[in-house]
Amino acid sequence: NPVLAFAIVFCTVALPANLIASMIERLETAERTQRDINAMKSEFLANMSHEIRTPMNAMHGMFQLLERSELTDRQRRWIDGGLSASEALQQQIDQVFQMARLERSMDQSEAENIDLREALSQWTVSAEGQIARAVKPLKVTSSYHNPAGVKPRLDPTQLNQIVLNLLSNAVKFSETGEISISVRASEQLLSVAIEDEGIGIDIVDQRMIFERFWQVDSGGARATGGAGLGLAISMELANRLGGNIDVSSALGKGSCFTVIVPLK
Ligand code: ADP
Repeated sequence: NPVLAFAIVFCTVALPANLIASMIERLETAERTQRDINAMKSEFLANMSHEIRTPMNAMHGMFQLLERSELTDRQRRWIDGGLSASEALQQQIDQVFQMARLERSMDQSEAENIDLREALSQWTVSAEGQIARAVKPLKVTSSYHNPAGVKPRLDPTQLNQIVLNLLSNAVKFSETGEISISVRASEQLLSVAIEDEGIGIDIVDQRMIFERFWQVDSGGARATGGAGLGLAISMELANRLGGNIDVSSALGKGSCFTVIVPLK
């Protein structure tokens, strides 16, 4: 019976094929919408950057001017509170905008030959400055191993930012002990290790910390501030340099973050 045959063919082939086609179409539409939303989100953040930064910098400048004026002790405490809050806000907003720029690949990288000994001494000074501002009894040590005197050709801004982010975390998440910065370079590989003796990170959490906005709850991060973007940005930048960031840590003992960049 040709009618029955047609009905069977229609039910087993045509109908499921139609169903599948319509499902695929719906999935494709959903994917397109998701992409559009992501693009709009990044564009919004990139465009808002200027609008938010301008008044924020103005407020920060006003606090700085007030700080230099004659104040009672009580007023000085208020201004100190305002200054540190506006600095924290500036840092967090900068990170959110930088993530948006990275997503849109808006930051161009410019490579130059990096004097690693010079870079190490700048990182050390910067770590000491951060420690002084945090008023913590921490000590910075550094070590340098570059027998071939390699000057790797990389974007110095990207490398600096990664190392400074890692140093800022080392200071933020330790109360006492040492923070060591070790630079090792050969023709093939550059590694910069930042080690601290702070609160450490649980093995389960170590897998999550490079995710955006992710913070270890027990780590007191909420109390120490931060947007949870530092490591995500650092990993993205390390990837752009063709490298990676490795973490080893033990809860209560400390952490070691190592930036590894292949040079050839
Ligand atoms: P933020 O520091 O702004 O919270 P990050 O992305 O830099 O964001 O870090 C994510 C989380 O990883 C931190 O909130 C903290 O819980 C943990 N973490 C990062 N570095 C360290 C460190 N050196 N010692 C202990 N915990 C750390």
